[in-house]
Amino acid sequence: MRAVRIHSYNAPLEATTLPDVSPGPREVKVSIAACGICHSDAHYRSGFGATPLPRTPGHEIAGVVSEAGDEVSDVRVGDRVAIHYLVSCGVCRGCTESGEQFCETGEMIGKHRDGGYADSIVIPATNAIPIPPNVSFEAAAIMMCSTATAYHALRLAQVGTGTRLAILGFGGLGVSAFHLAKFLGAASITVIDVIPEKLRAAEALGARDSDAFDVAIDFTGRADVIASAFRRLAPGGCLVLVALSEETLPLNPYRDILGKERRLIGCSDHLREELFDLMRFAANGDIDVSPAISRRVGLEAHAIDAVLDELDRGTGALRTVIER
Ligand SMILES: [Zn+2]
Ligand SMILES: [Zn+2]
Repeated sequence: MRAVRIHSYNAPLEATTLPDVSPGPREVKVSIAACGICHSDAHYRSGFGATPLPRTPGHEIAGVVSEAGDEVSDVRVGDRVAIHYLVSCGVCRGCTESGEQFCETGEMIGKHRDGGYADSIVIPATNAIPIPPNVSFEAAAIMMCSTATAYHALRLAQVGTGTRLAILGFGGLGVSAFHLAKFLGAASITVIDVIPEKLRAAEALGARDSDAFDVAIDFTGRADVIASAFRRLAPGGCLVLVALSEETLPLNPYRDILGKERRLIGCSDHLREELFDLMRFAANGDIDVSPAISRRVGLEAHAIDAVLDELDRGTGALRTVIER
């Protein structure tokens, strides 16, 4: 099968042919129909995360099950599926007590094991999430990453009817969080960003300013932005950190946190069960990520590299999907 891979850091991706692999007893092979190109893939290409090489990137994958192992009963050959990118053991202390993201032997597809910049992939059958008939492969694929993580953040903060929400940073994750929060019943959504076009886009979608927030979700990673939003939280409010950041937060424990019983929550990835919710929302028309897909490319190293370069530079284009 064809694959486009990272062979060395800070170098262009390379097209290769890899041997075809058959699924084990509890695995399925998926013939890939769509794979989203994510900004994380550009980070892995540049060596961030020390991804072992060579590696086939791509963690936003959807396709058709082409082979299933003997012990697989939940999915069948011919099923349309999207792929949950976290592979966890399900039995370790992390999995059973904390959550699958904390699996002691957990791996991310497209980072720790080969991903979707390829013709096919073999995955544990439990990572195959059925796609409803009226949801496209490309929409299902891109929901596996930013939409899912935005949804996990909203769930951690229990955003629902009446919540006054602030979204810090209006990129892919912020936009996903916006649409989901609207659907979940947020009373008001304030968007904080430094780019005027993004603020105008948010306003056009119905964002408006509120004096105080019950929940703020950070997609910027900037300490000053986080701290000032935190101080605008109502008593008992919470702020969820989603963007990776190593900055130190300038918060006063008494004045900013305990005196108001505010909470600071971390959000890491998302859960398999949440992907079923997203598929249901998409099937019902409650959310539609399709408008975010602005470009399609083939499984070609040069074309994919150009997209990753653009993501590194910062791009006005929304999402690009590799399609077969
Ligand atoms: Zn991604
Ligand atoms: Zn585990």
